[in-house]
Amino acid sequence: MTFKDLGLIPSILRTLEEQGYEKPTPIQQQAIPVLLKERDLLGCAQTGTGKTAAFAIPILQHLSQPHHEPSGRRKIKALIITPTRELATQIGESFSVYGKYTKLKNTVIFGGVKQRAQVDALRRGVDILIATPGRLLDLINQKKISLRDIDYFVLDEADQMLDMGFIHDIKKIIALLPKDRQSLFFSATMQPKIVALSKQILGNPERVTIEPEQTTAEKVEQSLYYVSKRNKIKLLKHLLQMHSMNSVLVFSRTKHGANKIVKLLVRDGMDCAAIHGNKSQKAREIALDNFKKGKISILVATDIAARGIDIDELSYVVNYDLPNVPESYVHRIGRTGRAGLSGMAISFCDALERPYLKDIERLIDKKVTVIHDHPFLNDELENESRKPDRNHGHKRKPKPSSSSRKKRNGGKNNYWRKRKTGGNRKAG
Ligand code: AMP
Repeated sequence: MTFKDLGLIPSILRTLEEQGYEKPTPIQQQAIPVLLKERDLLGCAQTGTGKTAAFAIPILQHLSQPHHEPSGRRKIKALIITPTRELATQIGESFSVYGKYTKLKNTVIFGGVKQRAQVDALRRGVDILIATPGRLLDLINQKKISLRDIDYFVLDEADQMLDMGFIHDIKKIIALLPKDRQSLFFSATMQPKIVALSKQILGNPERVTIEPEQTTAEKVEQSLYYVSKRNKIKLLKHLLQMHSMNSVLVFSRTKHGANKIVKLLVRDGMDCAAIHGNKSQKAREIALDNFKKGKISILVATDIAARGIDIDELSYVVNYDLPNVPESYVHRIGRTGRAGLSGMAISFCDALERPYLKDIERLIDKKVTVIHDHPFLNDELENESRKPDRNHGHKRKPKPSSSSRKKRNGGKNNYWRKRKTGGNRKAG
């Protein structure tokens, strides 16, 4: 199937050709025809599947029809709500790219920055608004935005919205939307809470399910290194050098941990930066931009900050800490191996993380390949892992044994002995 077969207008086909998109991805093949028929859609899919184009293209096509031509000042006809500033920015960029040869205008609004420039852009008139919930409600309350003319509404990353506590904001926004509209609802998972929320938004939707978890996981080469917590930084430096990694996203479970990794790498003269919730919007944008342009080769991120980050040609993901939520592992490794490229996901596992590894392997339904041949192998942990699992299905965390602690402290390098690793397990 080609984009032409989907009945797209020439101005959109032209930009897709320029982008080098040869054929629609599965979600685009399924969702675009449904959306062009103005049906509501419930999409179970995450970023990396081509989801943004799947909803952006039909919206651009609808709004390019003559009856939508603005007479007088432009009115906001399409609203896309997304949980993070990074995602909002990326979606805005996608609308600008796919809509390059249309006359439509979009703008992006999010919190954490002054509202002036955003309000100015709104005043100049936009057809499509991409927003995070808090700033949207702020500007609605200030009467800078009206949702009266919305014809197309997209709720993106619904599960993430609920995790981030946006449920009340979303309900307030829904209450302000005109009843007569087309609604699109996307979520990577479909737990009962999400289904309940979707029912409040959608009429009688078509359902599209794309399982990127398996497909992405299959394309990504996954490996596991048993290593003590203290030796993780040494192992990271070793791998960075050994593989001459020039585009690597390192995941830390905590913001504090991310800062610490950056500090230790920078001290060794490596180009890297951290992105997490405590960094200003400006700092996050600069770090991401420098990383995308190849000015820095290592980006250290927490799960929330990295969610949805779209970096083409990212070759490595390093799970410096294993996530305690197994789905996060799938999201993390899905940052690499995108748009048909292969990728590599490297995970470090210390004694406390073994239960997390079991949960992950259960979710992805396979064992991650263990790399035995590396200078920081934690033998004891590896031997442990070979024993049959007597505690199957329970989440008890094994304590690190005293002999492994002794071995770590008995290492030759005093520098490492002096540095205590933090025990903060709060999510970033
Ligand atoms: P998304 O799931 O929207 O975050 O898209 C993931 C990546 O796939 C982005 O870098 C898009 O530019 C790219 N992409 C989207 N659709 C296609 C397509 N049909 N062919 C090739 N790449 C695509």
